Amino acid sequence: MDCIFCKIIEGEIPSKAVYNDELVFAFYDVSPKAPVHILIVPKKHIVSVNDFTVDDNALLAHIFDVAKQIAKRKGISESGYRLIFNTGKDAGQTVFHAHLHILGGDTLCDLG
Ligand code: AMP
Repeated sequence: MDCIFCKIIEGEIPSKAVYNDELVFAFYDVSPKAPVHILIVPKKHIVSVNDFTVDDNALLAHIFDVAKQIAKRKGISESGYRLIFNTGKDAGQTVFHAHLHILGGDTLCDLG
């Protein structure tokens, strides 16, 4: 499959790893939008949030648990961070392998 994140998971494309287990892989975003910008990707190729099913509920809970762990490890748990799944064209999704952005380390732009 011609998917850049599948290739990163397989180690065919280099990345700066942050976390790895049997279900997910996390690495630094190559074009950071905040001082801390990390992506968590499920190892299973899932195109976007639209494609998660109830069978993925445990996987989704795990992704958020890993996000919490990473935020703590990177020292942004208390200062605050943003978790984003861009979904589809209008949201700016550019890689069609679902991924959770962890953004923090500074005051982020107001979305309100
Ligand atoms: P999205 O726009 O939500 O699909 O996010 C895709 C993200 O992947 C962007 O923030 C890119 O900077 C990031 N990205 C693309 N290619 C790579 C790569 N080879 N290594 C790390 N991050 C990447």
